[in-house]
Amino acid sequence: MEFIDLRSDTLTQPTLAMRKAMMEAELGDDGRVGSQGKGEDPTLNKLEAMAADILGKERALFMPSGTMGNLTALMTHCKRGNPVVVGEHAHVLISEKGPFMPELYGLVPIKVPDPAGKLDLAFLEKALKENSARLVCVENTHNFSGGAVIPLEYLHKIRTLVRAHGLPLHMDGARIFNAAVASGVEAKTIAATADSVQFCLSKGLSSPVGSMIVGTEKFILAAREWRKILGGQMRQAGVLAAAGIESLQNLVGRLAEDHQKAKALATALEKEGIFMGEKVQTNMVKLDVSVLKLSSKDFQTELTKRGVKVHTLSPTEVRLVTHKDVSEQDCLAAARIISQFWKKRLPRS
Ligand SMILES: *Cc1c(COP(=O)(O)O)cnc(C)c1O
Repeated sequence: MEFIDLRSDTLTQPTLAMRKAMMEAELGDDGRVGSQGKGEDPTLNKLEAMAADILGKERALFMPSGTMGNLTALMTHCKRGNPVVVGEHAHVLISEKGPFMPELYGLVPIKVPDPAGKLDLAFLEKALKENSARLVCVENTHNFSGGAVIPLEYLHKIRTLVRAHGLPLHMDGARIFNAAVASGVEAKTIAATADSVQFCLSKGLSSPVGSMIVGTEKFILAAREWRKILGGQMRQAGVLAAAGIESLQNLVGRLAEDHQKAKALATALEKEGIFMGEKVQTNMVKLDVSVLKLSSKDFQTELTKRGVKVHTLSPTEVRLVTHKDVSEQDCLAAARIISQFWKKRLPRS
């Protein structure tokens, strides 16, 4: 059976140009560090310089994954056991966990309500007054809110508040380029509101592997030490960086197509009376299935039988994610399959 696979944009396959660039990349040992704190892989150094430039930060560091990128950033900002303010639905807290696990780095999460991905400012202010927090984390776009873009004016407010308390701000910008493309604000301008940013090359940007963290030179040199300790230093990593360069040069602009496909999918579902709850902003459509008196897992199983794969977000919600490797036609076909099933299942009142 051929599936329309809308589970995640992590499913994207590297492009032909990426595969070619990977094959032809000039390589060296990134673990041999010179006086500037840079390794000997020229392709990796090129990617890091490019990422720093695009995000408007002094330096960048290549990471094997976003999970290790966030962990490394949090370890660099904080000492073991430090309190860290984080949204209660933050990916780093719910999905990644490592920074907050007592067995790993033991940071203490100070959880703040985060409707639509935005830390509640009144709660944040109170949390900062009452706790000796060392760091505040934001996420943009916000995964568990269905790819919500965090507005720039709001980020400025958070930054001012966090600065007033003398603290750094880390942005989990796994999909910062989706935020940039959707809002028409440059990634650099968004990144300027945070001291450090993590972003993924491996999601909508279609690289097979890799994330970056960016920040000041001092921050990145310290992060490089933690990355080594965590086992994230890779030798001829230019073979991966070559794909990352392709991502940054040629796959950012096309994210608009993913957003368009998500809108088409949501509009088709709405036309059939399926209410989305939240407006689609980027490449994700969030669907609350509770009216069907069905768990999200059962809904997922039923849809898989009908040829559509989705991801469950909570016991009542599923997520549909558009990406390079699904067409608009696929998305509309998925909408038809979902609405057929929906109508059949909807309890008559
Ligand atoms: C995917 C994701 C990560 C982690 O990236 P991996 O490369 O999968 O480890 C971190 N934060 C958010 C918001 C994500 O969506």
